[in-house]
Amino acid sequence: MTTDSTSAPTPTQRFSDEQERMFLSETLRLARVSVEKGSSPVGAIMVNAQGEIIGRGRNRTGEDFDAEEQRPGNASLAHAEMDLYFQLERLKDPETLTLYTSLEPCLMCGGASALLSVGRIVWATDDAWGGSGRLIRWDDHPAMQNTEVRPHPFADLEREGALLFAPEAKRAFPEEGWKLWQERYPEETRGL
Ligand SMILES: [Zn+2]
Repeated sequence: MTTDSTSAPTPTQRFSDEQERMFLSETLRLARVSVEKGSSPVGAIMVNAQGEIIGRGRNRTGEDFDAEEQRPGNASLAHAEMDLYFQLERLKDPETLTLYTSLEPCLMCGGASALLSVGRIVWATDDAWGGSGRLIRWDDHPAMQNTEVRPHPFADLEREGALLFAPEAKRAFPEEGWKLWQERYPEETRGL
């Protein structure tokens, strides 16, 4: 897998760049809601083959469990993607679905997506420390053979996501992790 930015459509890309931008913007909006609620700034949506958003998730690690909505919360695994998967229950035709996230999925969420056979994952911003890519090449993982990834396709949204998550990276990651973030996104982490 290359991490170079590219706007060239991938073989299984079903949507135009304009649509993909819109979907990633929605994940960034959800990430901002999480910040307002006291959770980590990460948002995720699932889009079906027709281009319809069939579910929205956001990080809820800083919030109480929502019994009424049956949303996970107050747990370290209440990541945006897990919130989304609990809501979607059983996935229908998962290989036709695209997961959009504001931040590169971690091993748990990337692994869950691959095990569920989600067809594609597109994320706005790399996570130099917490993202799967630091630990394992996406296309090397046995469970990820059929899941295609499109990392940070749009520079402006990548920057927006990096600015949004950088304070959290500094707060939550060990020094080593924050250093990786500073190296990966020098401009967006400057002054923090
Ligand atoms: Zn995760």
